[in-house]
Amino acid sequence: MRSLLARLSLCALFPLLIACQPVETSTGNSSNTAEPAKPIVLKLAHGWPKGFPVFGESVEDYAALVEELSGGRILLKVDSTNKHKSAFGIFDFVKSGQYDIGQTASYYYGGKDPDALFFSSMPLGMTTQEQYAWFYHGGGLDLANQVYAKHNIEVELGGNTGMQMGGWFRKEIKSVDDLKGLRMRIPGFAGKVVAGVGVVPTNIPAGELFQALERGTLDALEWVGPALDLRMGFHKVAPYYYVGWHEPGTELMYFFNKDSMAKLPEWAVSILKNAARLTAYRMTTHTFAENSENWSTIAEQFPNVQVKEFPSEVMQALRESNQALLQAESERSEFAKSVLDSRAAYLKKARAWTRIGTQAYLETVAE
Ligand code: CA
Repeated sequence: MRSLLARLSLCALFPLLIACQPVETSTGNSSNTAEPAKPIVLKLAHGWPKGFPVFGESVEDYAALVEELSGGRILLKVDSTNKHKSAFGIFDFVKSGQYDIGQTASYYYGGKDPDALFFSSMPLGMTTQEQYAWFYHGGGLDLANQVYAKHNIEVELGGNTGMQMGGWFRKEIKSVDDLKGLRMRIPGFAGKVVAGVGVVPTNIPAGELFQALERGTLDALEWVGPALDLRMGFHKVAPYYYVGWHEPGTELMYFFNKDSMAKLPEWAVSILKNAARLTAYRMTTHTFAENSENWSTIAEQFPNVQVKEFPSEVMQALRESNQALLQAESERSEFAKSVLDSRAAYLKKARAWTRIGTQAYLETVAE
């Protein structure tokens, strides 16, 4: 008995270095027979179609990484929307325990908890690097976990899209008046911001976007950036491609059901959480690579695409709408105020460094 305990504690400390006894989660069976122990099998749901570029691929990468790091002792059964049929159902799946783990974007769940809107990206807010620093070193991830703990969920970061483009428009935007009544797919806090200047925002699933834009059901849409936009074909029907302002670094997340995690040994939870962090890094670099590659293709092969900046009058109206919304959110609850204050303070500090670091570099070396 003593040697078994010693072995288990060694397993907790060095799960990758010694052969640990796999744990049967459903029955708790730990017999001493010679039968090989069954691996831990967990269910994971993500919010994308099967094989979806970058986002879906990243989850497959996560599952493979968990299996590799655990020496095959943890297996993830991954379901896409093809299976579970609910792109925006990941929150409820994990909260209820129907799935042990989920991968999605927090800002899809503002209807479940209004504070969930603050943990993907905020309009006119932090860039990818700045926001990672906030999540990991500025208390951001702890704040996210405070929100999700109320829903029986723990979260880890899941990977970033990098700077998102401002979207594809069928007509050029020359003034605020051009935005009045414009039907645009744009989710999250940014959807509320554009509504404040007259846009009619909607959020529809990825598979329906091209047809809606082609048929004129939508006048404009934002999706991600070249990494994911090119293969959607938007450039064929909406040639004005605006630079970003509304999602300067959108983070995906892994959701973990707290009860499922509580049943696991420490080494297994450690692998699941640390594999998520490594996957986040991998997806973030993958998106950057795909953005570069696909922008090169657009620039070379589709000269009809015109990259535009919104007129300063439009940007000013968007800033004012954003500010009014932030003020209203801060008045909604003490917690919302604490998150927004934390983000604002961190942005101010991080941006000062970005300006004399990356931005000054880009200006210095510019031709
Ligand atoms: Ca987007």
